[in-house]
Amino acid sequence: MNIHEYQAKQLLKQYGVAVPPGEPCRTVAEVTAIAEKLFAAGQKLLVIKSQIHAGGRGKGTFTHGFQGGVKLVKSAAEATEVAGNMLGKTLVTKQTGPEGRVVGTVLVAAAEKILKEFYLAVLLDRANSRPLIMASTEGGMDIEEVAAHSPEKIVREHVDPAVGLMPYQARKIAAALGLKGEVFNPACKLIAGVYKTWWECDASMVEINPLAIVETPEGKQSIVCVDAKIGLDDNALYRHADIVAMRDLAEESPLEVEASKFSLNYIKLDGNIACLVNGAGLAMSTMDIIQHFGGRPANFLDVGGGASKDQVSAAFRIILSDPSVKGILVNIFGGIMDCNVIATGIVEAVKETGLKLPLVVRLEGNNVAAGKTTLAGSGLTLITGDSMADAARKVVGAVGA
Ligand code: GDP
Ligand code: MG
Repeated sequence: MNIHEYQAKQLLKQYGVAVPPGEPCRTVAEVTAIAEKLFAAGQKLLVIKSQIHAGGRGKGTFTHGFQGGVKLVKSAAEATEVAGNMLGKTLVTKQTGPEGRVVGTVLVAAAEKILKEFYLAVLLDRANSRPLIMASTEGGMDIEEVAAHSPEKIVREHVDPAVGLMPYQARKIAAALGLKGEVFNPACKLIAGVYKTWWECDASMVEINPLAIVETPEGKQSIVCVDAKIGLDDNALYRHADIVAMRDLAEESPLEVEASKFSLNYIKLDGNIACLVNGAGLAMSTMDIIQHFGGRPANFLDVGGGASKDQVSAAFRIILSDPSVKGILVNIFGGIMDCNVIATGIVEAVKETGLKLPLVVRLEGNNVAAGKTTLAGSGLTLITGDSMADAARKVVGAVGA
């Protein structure tokens, strides 16, 4: 699960990480009020930031022509005008795809003068089975680009998960970034706080880009997180009710949201052959074999090892609500799964949805005879496949015809 920048900053702040003061707003009137409040408190410059689950907002463009999803403003009137051009409008960045994302919330925050930008992230290094802190003096840029063109500018520090981040490691990273003077100790505290956020929230990634040395209104230097992105490990969400409450369904594909209500693993793809499979491995090989025979899968769908009849019919409704679907392949190998449960679910869903598309079914395994009897006795026209290859060939043929 991903969360918005303003939510990531709320979490970071709870772990003592310095973030600029600011508040999320969902209406233009709220933006005006918050901007007036911040200017009255002595801020000279504010930043209005579109909240979408995609990066590259600064350089993005709205579909109505307005440039930039991140804008600096000098007055409440200017904040109001900018917010009117962001809220409810569609922002396209290099990460959103051409369809863009509708901005439902903007973050209104104090914008201090940036003196230098850095990159800081914590993630899991699967090769080493350890948390990894990555930092770079090349802030504000895509880290992939830095890795490709100047890999020597990225410092890496592995953390022993049993011990946690040691203070000397935070100092080592701060020194490698060339930090010194009045920002050195605050930077060490910030690095430790970012690591703690990653660990305590069960995040898969915390990325601060840019982390910045800013000049405070009093003319001093301080170090703050100007941008923040947090991705969370879905498998650990059950122990973070506060984070689950941050989920923004508007940022997720509607069919994927519907699938998650039934605990189905569904991912929409751009082909036209829908597949309904039990088990992630079998689902992946089903997509491969469809491709092998010249077809293109419309989705990945794993109904799981012990799906109920209701889950199977929900899965059917979900794959059918994708308008690009021209044929369906059901590929079940019943280990724990009872083939007759699948067959009953299919028959129910087909009757309910009045299916007109070709449906190829390959059933094998636990209670397969009963499943086949259910399908045969249903009066539905469906094509049966004797093997996985046979079924894939038949569905590709039916869609092509
Ligand atoms: P992204 O484009 O989606 O990564 O959004 P960012 O939050 O990183 O903003 C893009 C750029 O806008 C940053 O790299 C900064 O240069 C600038 N920016 C964002 N927030 C501030 C701020 O508070 N003060 C100043 N001066 N610049 C900012
Ligand atoms: Mg950024």
